[in-house]
Amino acid sequence: MTLQPPAPAPAGVPPLHGEPLPLEFSNTVFPVRGELRDGIGTPERLGWWLSANGGRLKTDLPAPALRALTPGDVAYFVLLRDALRRLVGAHVRGHAPDAWDVAQLNRASSLDRSWPLLCWAGEEPPTRVEMCTTTPLAAVQAEIAHAAIALLSGTSPAEPRACRAPGCVFFFDHARSRREWCSTGCGNRARVARHHARRRAAG
Ligand SMILES: [Zn+2]
Repeated sequence: MTLQPPAPAPAGVPPLHGEPLPLEFSNTVFPVRGELRDGIGTPERLGWWLSANGGRLKTDLPAPALRALTPGDVAYFVLLRDALRRLVGAHVRGHAPDAWDVAQLNRASSLDRSWPLLCWAGEEPPTRVEMCTTTPLAAVQAEIAHAAIALLSGTSPAEPRACRAPGCVFFFDHARSRREWCSTGCGNRARVARHHARRRAAG
């Protein structure tokens, strides 16, 4: 999918990949000249990222809620993102997970307090209305956690993989692209690295 990033972007926001939501969220850590940066580590960056991904979130995040983000809100999203990155990493490498990370994901999942209501009275046709008693920010964390649980338990069609290009830290959905890399740029870098390795071996 193609994401429309909102403008203007504050400095240090992560690249957008259009991956399934849990992988896109995991990819908010990114390398710059060999150093890892946190693309949602400030209220401005997190607000930008949530706004950029707003079109595919069920939760409605009004602009005033995004402008009112606090460092405390950021800490909860970073906690969830870091746990999710480690869980996706364990999944793609076939390793056992850390129980703390599973607990963090399940904590976020349980933040959801929504249910459908049937509104039907008199002659009007029946309609379904979503009730929600949690804050939009908690609901978004729960939404990401629900999608992550589907991804990690194999109940979503996505096939998470780690990009094989040298120095890349991104995850991608292999079912979507059938590539071994997160992007064309990483595919080119991986091919160049393989070419140099062959030349070194031959020389
Ligand atoms: Zn990559």
